[in-house]
Amino acid sequence: MKPPHRPKKYLGQNFLVDGRIQQKIIQACDFKHDDVVVEIGPGQGALTRLIGPQVKKLICVEADRDLIGALRSGFPAPVEIVHADFLKMDMGHLPDGIKVIGNIPYYISTPIIEKLIENRKKISEAFLTVQLEFGRRLVAAAGGKDYGSLSCFVQYYTGPKMLFKIKNTCFRPVPKVDSGFVRLIMRGPDEETGDIEQFLFKVIQTAFQQRRKTIVNALKSMLGKEKLERALADLGIKADARPEGLTLSNYIGLSRRLML
Ligand code: SAM
Repeated sequence: MKPPHRPKKYLGQNFLVDGRIQQKIIQACDFKHDDVVVEIGPGQGALTRLIGPQVKKLICVEADRDLIGALRSGFPAPVEIVHADFLKMDMGHLPDGIKVIGNIPYYISTPIIEKLIENRKKISEAFLTVQLEFGRRLVAAAGGKDYGSLSCFVQYYTGPKMLFKIKNTCFRPVPKVDSGFVRLIMRGPDEETGDIEQFLFKVIQTAFQQRRKTIVNALKSMLGKEKLERALADLGIKADARPEGLTLSNYIGLSRRLML
């Protein structure tokens, strides 16, 4: 007989064992019969088991070879088990309008979200279990300590919402911190302002690298003090505002003006 699976810390394996939360997640996702869903890191299949019967196709991408055999034998079609690192997987062959779900390891949460955003034309929405603090940064509004360049980046491309908190005791092994269940609805391309994106994110990153300074002091070496002060005044933003005091729309407005 095969020995029981020993969770691998380096793969962020904290399995969701609380049945009530599993159900709550499934209800929140509200998958439809014609959905094609990609699950990142099915693990031992806690969610796979519940999603498989609900959807047209469920593609599960698992990095741990030791879990693949049990997943393949436990979950027949329409579940497909792919042994791969999600970060390296080519999503090009997937149909448009897919949904994504994943209880994802902390150390690759940002690259996973970047990959989802890169492939946003294929994806309608993503449901992610992340560390609570990280989730708060994704959804943070201007003005607070959680708000930063990650919040702006994610909110530019998606509408993120924290759906609920998950206690650390719902996982085995029990992680040190609580988690949050977050939904990211991908925005349509018409809501993007492609021409300024690169510049916009450079401005945002530079500002938040010096978040204790005023916005003028944080950005003057990149953009020039006078030009910057004029642009801020035109937009009705105080020159002594801190980087976290500017909304994403403020940053978009500022970048547009400074690119003129
Ligand atoms: N979904 C399961 C659950 O909720 O119980 C497992 C969640 S566990 C937090 C994360 C899972 O992601 C593990 O099964 C781990 O092996 C897998 N994983 C880690 N890195 C991965 C990667 N780069 N690509 C795909 N799967 C990965």
